[in-house]
This record gives sequence, structure tokens and C-alpha cells, in this order.
Amino acid sequence: MIDDKRKGRRRRRGKREYTCVACQQTFRFCWNCECGFAMCPACMQENLWGMTCNQITWTCPDCGAIRNFGNQ
Ligand SMILES: [Zn+2]
Ligand SMILES: [Zn+2]
Repeated sequence: MIDDKRKGRRRRRGKREYTCVACQQTFRFCWNCECGFAMCPACMQENLWGMTCNQITWTCPDCGAIRNFGNQ
């Protein structure tokens, strides 16, 4: 059987951008939380020591939610 890889590729209308809470720059991708917290990969890397203890999940400093790396 051949799997059609084209299926399930939906495009969302408009640009979704995130503003990093640390450097205040806008990125197309940030680690983000449903509470609105967003941090760019570079700042996340810098603050990793304070955000995660296992490199698998990170804790949102605003609401305390446990977020998953690679959950995007
Ligand atoms: Zn940043
Ligand atoms: Zn949060």
C-alpha cells in the first residue's frame, strides 16, 4: 500500500508569529505555552538550566505548565 504524503498538510491563514519574552524579538517559531508565554530557541538554550531539568520537558515560568520539547 502506498501512503499519500500529501494528505493532512493544511495551511493556516495568516502568519503566526511569536514574540520572545526574553529578547523581545519576533520569531516564526518559539517554544510557547498556552498562557501566551513564548521563548525563542536561542533564549531557551541560554535559559535551559532554569527551564528544564531533563531536556525533554520544560516548565513555563508564567503558569507552571509542563511543556514538551518537540511538541510543536
Ligand atoms: Zn529570545
Ligand atoms: Zn504558561
